[in-house]
Amino acid sequence: MTAIARGTLLVLAMLILTGAASLHTRHSVGYPIRTMGTYANITLVTADSAAGQRLVHAALSEFVRVDSLMSNWTQTSEVARINRSAELGPVPMHAEVAGVVDAALRVGRESEGAFDITVEPLVRLWGFLGGPKRVPSMLEIEAAFVFVGPQHLMYDSAAQTLQFDRKNVRIDLGGIAKGHAVDRAAAALRNAGVTDALVDLSGNMFALGSPATSPTWRIGVRDPRDRILYFARLPLSEQAISTSGKYEQFVAQDGRTYGHIMDPRSGRPAEGLIAVTVIAPTAMEADAWSTSLFVLGPIAAKAKAKARADIDAVLVTPGSAGVDTVWVEASLKDRFTLDDKAKGMFQLVWF
Ligand code: ADP
Ligand code: MG
Repeated sequence: MTAIARGTLLVLAMLILTGAASLHTRHSVGYPIRTMGTYANITLVTADSAAGQRLVHAALSEFVRVDSLMSNWTQTSEVARINRSAELGPVPMHAEVAGVVDAALRVGRESEGAFDITVEPLVRLWGFLGGPKRVPSMLEIEAAFVFVGPQHLMYDSAAQTLQFDRKNVRIDLGGIAKGHAVDRAAAALRNAGVTDALVDLSGNMFALGSPATSPTWRIGVRDPRDRILYFARLPLSEQAISTSGKYEQFVAQDGRTYGHIMDPRSGRPAEGLIAVTVIAPTAMEADAWSTSLFVLGPIAAKAKAKARADIDAVLVTPGSAGVDTVWVEASLKDRFTLDDKAKGMFQLVWF
């Protein structure tokens, strides 16, 4: 059985459990799903859980569709097809893939190269695209590094084609595609008449409207060390939020951990921050900018977040004696709350 089919069955099982008791009052119903090797959760505000099934399917099928276009884990995606053939000449791209590539290249420019979809050979070398995760040698890193950089991409936005300037160049939309998928799922719900829902794909979320009992959704921000579930809360409505960190994807050696976010300037995993949360108008922007700020590191990330009115950021740097520092942009002053349980674990600094 496929992961999607399993997810569908899980949704059906949940409906049977929750459907009967909940008719006639609007309340939040969560539909947790395992999909694309990660988790997703659609929360609907509804008086009729059974009607939610069709809506959840509409959102879920957007996740599946975007994954089938943009996954780097299959040989059948549009991105895999581009990666196989773009060294030979300009490859026509599916319009939606072109749109995401276009946005990725723009964020790349706006982040001074921190966001770079050509990191694929490095991500693969460290084992984050399948195969054993490992710390490669300096020589291996240097060998992969020569294929990295936007100068290797010849993108024609009018023709929607992409060409690589040499062999072994590859693109990886892993830092932006999940956010795009969330936007599409949220749009599918909206088109179906949904006004209040929370779409979550592996920490990339979009909040439509609000739950029945509150003017905003209250989003928990995950503890980068997983000591507690959430260390902080942020209210959210008609906005997106995304967190990047070393949560599941890292390799440890000699007491150090190396994450799956690469610094395209050094060819090595980005260092300095342990988590970045970004609030933005769209989930695609939030996804790409959380990855970008993570690469930029604490000082440049703070400057970039402050300089951009469209993104608000929460950064976490590691501290000593179990106390990390959480840097919260001043624009979030009325919104950010550190959980009581987290107070001994984090020192809060506004920037
Ligand atoms: P997650 O995949 O856990 O949600 P991110 O959104 O931060 O986390 O994306 C990390 C993924 O982005 C990596 O697995 C890789 O596919 C890709 N990536 C890594 N480094 C970069 C980078 N500097 N720029 C763009 N994408 C990157
Ligand atoms: Mg990202």
